[in-house]
Amino acid sequence: MRDYTEITERLKNLGMPIERIGTAHSYPIHRIRLTSSAHKPQQVLITGGMHGDEPAGVEAVLQFLARDNTARLKNFSFVIIPCINPYGYVHDTRETRNGIDINRAFETDDIAETAIIKKTLGQTQFSFAIDFHEDYDATGFYLYEGKRDEKYIGPQLANVAKAIGPIDPEDPGEDAPDLAEGVYKVANAWGTQGLAQSHSVFVTYFFQDSKSLPRVCGKIAQRFCDFCISRSP
Ligand SMILES: [Zn+2]
Repeated sequence: MRDYTEITERLKNLGMPIERIGTAHSYPIHRIRLTSSAHKPQQVLITGGMHGDEPAGVEAVLQFLARDNTARLKNFSFVIIPCINPYGYVHDTRETRNGIDINRAFETDDIAETAIIKKTLGQTQFSFAIDFHEDYDATGFYLYEGKRDEKYIGPQLANVAKAIGPIDPEDPGEDAPDLAEGVYKVANAWGTQGLAQSHSVFVTYFFQDSKSLPRVCGKIAQRFCDFCISRSP
């Protein structure tokens, strides 16, 4: 079992206001908002821990929060949910306690985790949403991109990733068409309502030496966010 209180403690130690947005299977789900001083900032959503057996995503979000984001806050506000599926995180399972894969369940309202997330996000229009995952079978980076127009940013994002580490050469298969090396469209079968109502970039990263992964998670998160917001319309 993983220690979820350690996540809570790390969040508290950041010295930022932490909001408890709900409780799923006795575990609190937290949100941190980093608010821009701009009059009408663009909104960026950053999430991790949707799949409980992919702790690198949680680590990426925590390390992003620990960085100095002052420059980014000039134009962008962030809504950050470090761990969407705390029960899964603690018990090292992909699904929720009820056996639900949250990533395929955003069209229903009767699942604790998705109900909490959907209520929290409300009608906010995000310019970008980045949801960090981990794939222990992969040998490098890949991402899925959902979109609401034809302007994919995934191929450029993969180029950013190449400067950090390898792209996974394996096509993950399923029902997701390729956009570029390591970049796949979100399959329609997964549902048409993603985490955000705008661009959703699902980032997955893996280093063969898994011990090195935590060390680069924060760097990856920061680089991806920098790139996304620099491309923001
Ligand atoms: Zn995942």
